[in-house]
Amino acid sequence: MGLLDGKVAIVTGAGGGLGEAYAKLFAKEGAAVVVNDLGGARDGTGADRSAAQKVVDEIIAAGGRAVANGDDVSTVQGGENICNAALENFGRVDILVCNAGILRDKTFANTSEQDWDAVIKVHLKGTYCCAMPVWKWMKDNGGGTMVFTSSTSGLYGNFGQTNYGAAKAGIYGMVRVMSIEGRKYNIRVMGLAPGAYTRMTSDLPGRKDREPDPMSLPENVAPGVLYMVSDLAKDHSGKILGVSSRGVREIKMVQTAGFDPGRPYTAEEVAKNADKVFFPTEDRTVTVQPVAPAQPQPA
Ligand code: NAD
Repeated sequence: MGLLDGKVAIVTGAGGGLGEAYAKLFAKEGAAVVVNDLGGARDGTGADRSAAQKVVDEIIAAGGRAVANGDDVSTVQGGENICNAALENFGRVDILVCNAGILRDKTFANTSEQDWDAVIKVHLKGTYCCAMPVWKWMKDNGGGTMVFTSSTSGLYGNFGQTNYGAAKAGIYGMVRVMSIEGRKYNIRVMGLAPGAYTRMTSDLPGRKDREPDPMSLPENVAPGVLYMVSDLAKDHSGKILGVSSRGVREIKMVQTAGFDPGRPYTAEEVAKNADKVFFPTEDRTVTVQPVAPAQPQPA
């Protein structure tokens, strides 16, 4: 018995990196998978449609079910073709993982309009283009699960990634809004901030010229994402999980109790109460212990 027996999954950008690992694990767990990938370079230039086919061949050789799709996620037509690949080959779609992505890292001052548009288009518009036809199908057919890929670069910030961070924070917004709209259609929408050694991250400062830590390979991240798309996570929607080979944790937008006098106030008063307005630390890894669920009271 697999965790995804009888399910049909679409994974975009699955010709390599994290998406390939998700597609292979989903297929191993019983899902029929649409493996999408345009197969371009890391900066989004070029295309090699054999990337998706290679992953499909490996899934089929291992006894799984999969079809390749080489469409560009960032066009409306591409999104429709990807959804149709699932419907025409497998009759339904239960799971969508929007994973395709590119990078054009520059400091903000050096970010050209082309670098801005290209990154926003693949990540943010790409998530819209792929989610729309699947959403419409799920809405009319009992629901499903979507996982959109964000990043700590957008959620926390990272030097040199304004375009990428903006797209990834926008995706977080999509998760929050669509999870609310999805409730009445039984559509779960989850956000993912992965961490793995792939071609996207292999030359980050400190990693260049170093052998990959085998622990941080995508195969060791995929089980966290399998959890997210499976019924094991059926009670969770609208949440974003940080998933790496070392563990899984929820990342959340939080607010302080604040300066909240309940009457009109002055700027000077806000300054005087800055200790109530701001968090005491910039540390993003403050760990909050989950509150234990209330115990049922004896009758
Ligand atoms: P990757 O470069 O190995 O994989 C991305 C895949 O997307 C590639 O195979 C590429 O061909 C495909 N792709 C790019 N543009 C496409 C398009 N327009 N249409 C279809 N396919 C397209 O990178 P990865 O590290 O596996 O990244 C996967 C996702 O995870 C990305 O969204 C990335 O931003 C995100 N992410 C990765 C990390 C990490 O640590 N690796 C961290 C945070 C977020």
